[in-house]
Amino acid sequence: MHELGMCEGLVELIRQQAGDRGVTGARVRVGTRHAVVGEAFDQAFALAAAGTPAEDAVLDLVVTPLTVTCRDCGSRTESLDVLAVCPVCGSADVELSGGDELVLESVSYREEGPHVPGHPG
Ligand SMILES: [Zn+2]
Repeated sequence: MHELGMCEGLVELIRQQAGDRGVTGARVRVGTRHAVVGEAFDQAFALAAAGTPAEDAVLDLVVTPLTVTCRDCGSRTESLDVLAVCPVCGSADVELSGGDELVLESVSYREEGPHVPGHPG
C-alpha cells in the first residue's frame, strides 16, 4: 500500500505549513502514474494524519494526466491511462512522460472567530 508512504510525506508538509492552525482540507495533485485509489488514499491519509493538525482535513485529490508522445505520427496528447495508445493513429508505439508528480497544491485552515461555518447537506 504505497499510498501510506505518500500520505506521510504530505502530512509532514501540511504540518510545516499549518503551524498551530487546524487544517480543514488539502488539495493534492497526484500523477496518474502513481495509480492511487481514491478510497485507499483517503484511508492512508487518515492514518498518517492521526494525532496531527491535519487529522480532520478533507482531502481533495486531483489526478493529473501523463503525456503520450506517439513515435509513429508524432502527436502529443494527454491521458489518464497508463496503458495509453495514440488516440490519433492508434499506435501502441508511444512514449509516456510526466504523470508522476505528487504536489500539495493548497491547504485550507479552520477559521478563527465567532462565525462557525455550517455544513449544509
Ligand atoms: Zn500516432
